[in-house]
Amino acid sequence: MFAFVSSSSITWSQKNDVQAATFNVASCAIVGGVGAWVNKSPSQKGGRAFLSGMLKGAAGGLCVYGGKRMIYSFSQTNHGGWAWASKVTHAVGLSLVENAASNRPLLSVWHFHFGFNRLELTIGNSAQLRYRMMPFALGGFIYASTRGRLNFAETLRVGQPVFFSDNLRIPRVDFEPVGLTVANSIMLNENGRDSKVLGHELIHAYQYEERGYLNTYLNQARERWLNKSKLTKTYGQWVYTDANFVLDNLFYYLGSIGNTCYFDNPYEQEANFYSGRLSYRDIEY
Ligand SMILES: [Zn+2]
Repeated sequence: MFAFVSSSSITWSQKNDVQAATFNVASCAIVGGVGAWVNKSPSQKGGRAFLSGMLKGAAGGLCVYGGKRMIYSFSQTNHGGWAWASKVTHAVGLSLVENAASNRPLLSVWHFHFGFNRLELTIGNSAQLRYRMMPFALGGFIYASTRGRLNFAETLRVGQPVFFSDNLRIPRVDFEPVGLTVANSIMLNENGRDSKVLGHELIHAYQYEERGYLNTYLNQARERWLNKSKLTKTYGQWVYTDANFVLDNLFYYLGSIGNTCYFDNPYEQEANFYSGRLSYRDIEY
């Protein structure tokens, strides 16, 4: 399944709004349908669970698309309000997709990320707010801290950690990128302090967050493992394993195979599309 989602995201380019919306709705519908089938209860019919998950996933996909589309407005205007509107809409969309793929009621759990922090609001008989830390996102934050200085004003303005750096050179790349994103931590050098570059990097942060819906496929295995001991229970209480980071990097790598141009990678094409189509001259990473 991972391979299927991977190849579909790699081969289906988003060249206009209709294609982009269709791509997000269709891919989230598939993720929701398959997840609901994987997570169905023993008494539930597989086909019914799949269809219900598909419909819910499609609704989430529309919000995911809407959130990314607002990054275009941010890139054009540099207004932080667009970045936040985008972040909230995107988080709503991903919450719907994760609910769909977890085979639970559409509006039951809402999650929101701020850097390596994950807040989860569960609405049942009573509302419950839960905090967990995401280790790979924390790793990205620490890595970014070694490459630059966290800029609080910019971080609060756009809703993702933003670091200003003097040097973003990386091994095996013969130019210095003007922007770099690891998990959801964004680094910009002197030439990257531009709303289009920042918009492009915000999309990379979303790409990492979006693959999180695939974590739901391991819901049952994870629950079994977390209930094994007191230690694993405590881990599960405070830590959300953002394994999507590993998948996201694997998919990025698969997307880069056989390309003649760096920006042939679908991940880069998507980031360019939503940030206002940076040209090849606007070299970034
Ligand atoms: Zn990029």
